[in-house]
Amino acid sequence: MNQQTAMPQLDTKAPAQKTLPDAQTVTEVRHWTDRLFSFKVTRPASLRFRSGEFVMIGLMGDPDPATGRQKPLLRAYSIASPSWDEELEFYSIKVQDGPLTSRLQHIQPGDQIILRPKPVGTLVHDALLPGKRLWFFSTGTGLAPFASLIRDPQTFEDYDQVILTHTCREVADLEYGRQLVEEVRSDEMLRELIGDGLDKLVYYPTTTREQSPKMGRITGLLKDGTVFADLGIDRIAPETDRAMVCGSLDFNVEIKGLLEDFGLREGANSDPKEYVVEKAFVG
Ligand SMILES: Cc1cc2nc3c(=O)[nH]c(=O)nc-3n(C[C@H](O)[C@H](O)[C@H](O)COP(=O)(O)OP(=O)(O)OC[C@H]3O[C@@H](n4cnc5c(N)ncnc54)[C@H](O)[C@@H]3O)c2cc1C
Repeated sequence: MNQQTAMPQLDTKAPAQKTLPDAQTVTEVRHWTDRLFSFKVTRPASLRFRSGEFVMIGLMGDPDPATGRQKPLLRAYSIASPSWDEELEFYSIKVQDGPLTSRLQHIQPGDQIILRPKPVGTLVHDALLPGKRLWFFSTGTGLAPFASLIRDPQTFEDYDQVILTHTCREVADLEYGRQLVEEVRSDEMLRELIGDGLDKLVYYPTTTREQSPKMGRITGLLKDGTVFADLGIDRIAPETDRAMVCGSLDFNVEIKGLLEDFGLREGANSDPKEYVVEKAFVG
């Protein structure tokens, strides 16, 4: 683990900017690796959302050379904080030539971002039928909606066991999630629901490139039964298991196939079933 991972940079002050439409103020920024950062912004008083939903956020684009007018440059972002939180947290990729994140990665506390207060999404409790065990399958920044859901008491009230899997290339890419799980396990209110045994919240991180205690893609580990053997649990079954999936398009397609093989069916807000899926990004 490198030093940047162990001690995320924490910016604390920055000058204010002129007000944007739907502007929110950045209150904290943490850089986890050269490709990942998280940040918090103020929450609009009127914004209500369900843990797991996403919103459009962004910055003002460059002025049009012909007209000089600026348009907002917006992208979909899962809200990583739970619905009860006073602030909103986001967990972001840094795409070096990405129109938004090439700039967004430089925000500092006091800066403003644009946030359209219209939350939507399928990774919500309402889209699943009641069950006993809830799986969160994520890769990369696909962890973000689950960072919201595992800080929501309803998650532990509704299920006997919650299993969060997170697959990344390198160990440092797991650090945000590792600290998050630690935070949940030591939170007074959530700890009461999770219990001291802590087996109600199971964290199953894996890496695909760098050596770590558990190597491999989660899809492979599900397919050959390693996950169930490691955790000492029964295989996924439609009577007991519910799942939420958030990763790259390829990952989503592969895991959907596996879940269907286990007998689970895809649900939606209007038609709750046994699992739901959302893309972590387009492309
Ligand atoms: C429903 C939904 C929720 C999303 N939630 C998040 C989130 O919580 N955090 C987040 O960082 N992004 C999230 N995204 C992706 C986000 O909308 C942007 O694509 C991302 O911020 C990059 O923006 P950009 O303008 O810099 O580059 P873009 O032009 O949007 O993307 C350039 C390329 O970078 C790659 N890329 C984009 N986003 C990611 C990513 N997250 N991980 C790996 N590769 C990526 C893709 O190959 C893409 O073609 C979400 C996307 C969707 C559809």
